Amino acid sequence: MTDATPGEGGPRFRPLPPWVGPTTRLVHGAERPDRNAGAVVFPIYQTSTFHYPAEHSEVEDPRDVYLYSRMDNPTVEGPQELMRQLEGGEAARLFASGMGAISATVLSLVRPGDEVVALASLYGGTTDLLTDLVPRFGVRVRLISDAEAVAPDACVSESTRLVLLESPTNPTLRVHDLAAWARAADRVGALLAVDNTFATPINQTPIALGADLVLHSATKYLGGHSDLLGGAVVGAEQVVRRIDPRYCLGAPLEPFGAFLLHRSLKTLALRVARQNENGRRVAEALRGHPAVARVHYPGFASAAEEVVASRQMRGRGGMVSLSLRGGAAAIDPFLRRLRLVHVASSLGSVESLASVPRVTSHRHLSADELEARGIDPGLVRLSLGIEEPEDLVRDLTEALDASG
Ligand code: PLP
Repeated sequence: MTDATPGEGGPRFRPLPPWVGPTTRLVHGAERPDRNAGAVVFPIYQTSTFHYPAEHSEVEDPRDVYLYSRMDNPTVEGPQELMRQLEGGEAARLFASGMGAISATVLSLVRPGDEVVALASLYGGTTDLLTDLVPRFGVRVRLISDAEAVAPDACVSESTRLVLLESPTNPTLRVHDLAAWARAADRVGALLAVDNTFATPINQTPIALGADLVLHSATKYLGGHSDLLGGAVVGAEQVVRRIDPRYCLGAPLEPFGAFLLHRSLKTLALRVARQNENGRRVAEALRGHPAVARVHYPGFASAAEEVVASRQMRGRGGMVSLSLRGGAAAIDPFLRRLRLVHVASSLGSVESLASVPRVTSHRHLSADELEARGIDPGLVRLSLGIEEPEDLVRDLTEALDASG
């Protein structure tokens, strides 16, 4: 995390001493005085419009003059500032959803004749955007496999303007070398955008590895309680300004969602520390279980990926996928016996979730495409919450014992 150097919204917030740690920064990094009642928790400005221009406004400080909430809203600026600090960027913007952030980014940065290079294993919504919508505007999209992605220089060309990556990937948790990709993108003058939803800025900061932009579904770990939808973009001021959602694409985060997100971010480091522990404990415990053919976890795919993961990640996160030895037929008996882990799509929340990518996030793929991405018929994705690690290991082990 960087110091609280003022970005666009910086001067509105009380500066912190440079020596504070990440959790202190999450709690205090975006505090600003509430001039109405002195509230400790900044209020929700649930308003679409404000008295404007300044001479019509009742505020004392001209920096507190706002025009219209699609452009700026005081409640949204707090979590926006925290995201800027967390990811170490000059500027951040919050969106109504992760897809709002991703679509605004892609549509704002490319023009006809450009090439976008992206992993084939990106989140399904992002792949749909790249394969269905973006080509309509004369933009070429090159999707690359996890195997091709180990040689970034061979994947980009002089017409590549944008590279879009995720690491770890969904749902097989493959790890890609972000610093190597940043060098390859830079060489051809392309921007590198990394969807950091799975890792979170607690475990991985792509901008420090050379990425130009970081994207998030704030719906997941950042929100962390399965009760909000949101998205974020962080990067250099000049690039983020080009992606600004407020004027034309119209998908900013609304004030109540921003209030919830700000509250959630205060505990992000604590939650992710436990989720990292739960991920590691479950991955190690289930690796030798007779009903499990393979455990997918960042760094498990190969010795080379382990080296990259230990270099670029501070923690491996709470996502673990299991390939059940009994294939598709083993999935239902396993899921039905879970007592603590809920069966639901999405991820990153305090409660553990199990989902089956073939019928949820990846249901639009053909059998061949699923196979090419390593999504075998018995694959179940786990998002581990903040429960006790031994309780989760027990719940999962007992359900596997009975299903095998
Ligand atoms: N990126 C990743 C890695 C995701 O897993 C998701 C959603 O599952 C998204 C983006 C899209 O985010 P949202 O659902 O908030 O639009």
